[in-house]
Amino acid sequence: MSEQQATVIATFSRRMRLRLSDGTEVEARIKGKRLKPVCGDSVIAERIDKEADWLITAIQARQNELTRPNLRGQVEVLAANLDYLVVVAAPEPRADWFIIDRYLCAAEIMHVAAAVVYNKIDLGAAAAREELENYAAIGYDAVQCSAETGQGMDAVSDLLTGRCAIIVGQSGVGKSSIINRLLGDTLQKTAAVSGKSREGRHTTVNSAMIPLPGGGFVIDSPGVRDYAPALESSTHAAQGFREIAALAQHCRFANCRHLREPNCAVKEAMENGQISPRRYESYKRTVNLTEQIARG
Ligand code: GDP
Ligand code: ZN
Repeated sequence: MSEQQATVIATFSRRMRLRLSDGTEVEARIKGKRLKPVCGDSVIAERIDKEADWLITAIQARQNELTRPNLRGQVEVLAANLDYLVVVAAPEPRADWFIIDRYLCAAEIMHVAAAVVYNKIDLGAAAAREELENYAAIGYDAVQCSAETGQGMDAVSDLLTGRCAIIVGQSGVGKSSIINRLLGDTLQKTAAVSGKSREGRHTTVNSAMIPLPGGGFVIDSPGVRDYAPALESSTHAAQGFREIAALAQHCRFANCRHLREPNCAVKEAMENGQISPRRYESYKRTVNLTEQIARG
């Protein structure tokens, strides 16, 4: 029996593609119904006698996971062991900054660095200038690019190279186009991931971890298009907004929710123009959303 450690690099419902430690890629099934490996997982797999398939027998402890509540209200894991989250926005479809903040909120809770990439600047960049400046001011990577013309793509490549990033954002903002640009000549090889399975049937890829030419990976997951983070409480919501979390210690009440409490450092900072009112509004919406979900 040849048991070894492997990384999940693509998932097609219950079928997986693994990269073994020597770099070879194999197809695998999962032992039992309880194990739910996702892209980025480190797993233990063993070879099945006389078969091409491998069998995943265990999932190693995860460093972190990107989750969201599914339609039945359960927490679904989208990817694991990430070290970067890239939110893509664009002028078309029009950027919804509240959705972008919800992704950034998820990154904060995972303790993962994050970037806002504003794509399609060939269609105009003015609408995003103020928001991007603010994201940069609070410590996020913020870049503008056009996957179509190539403008700004070097900066995007610099951000992603050497990391294991997940790329998220509304449908149609250009996530696939950005990945294709980054891949350049290696594109053909990667396209095989979403192609035919060994049996020759077409399978829909749920999620794939794509190697970048300069090193590192980017995880593309259609599942993250309509995202809301699974938050446990409104305190968790505050942790998701870094400039708010940083001020909370100066509030009069230790359990201040920064809504109607007196001597609130967050509201004072907003009145002094140190915190973006748009981000504060986003925070309030996230608190409301979390409380609604908690009430059921
Ligand atoms: P995804 O759903 O986020 O993966 O978006 P796609 O990569 O499929 O792109 C959606 C549409 O936007 C496609 O028609 C692309 O050709 C177009 N698109 C992507 N990037 C750019 C860009 O930089 N400029 C313009 N004008 N169109 C783009
Ligand atoms: Zn406060």
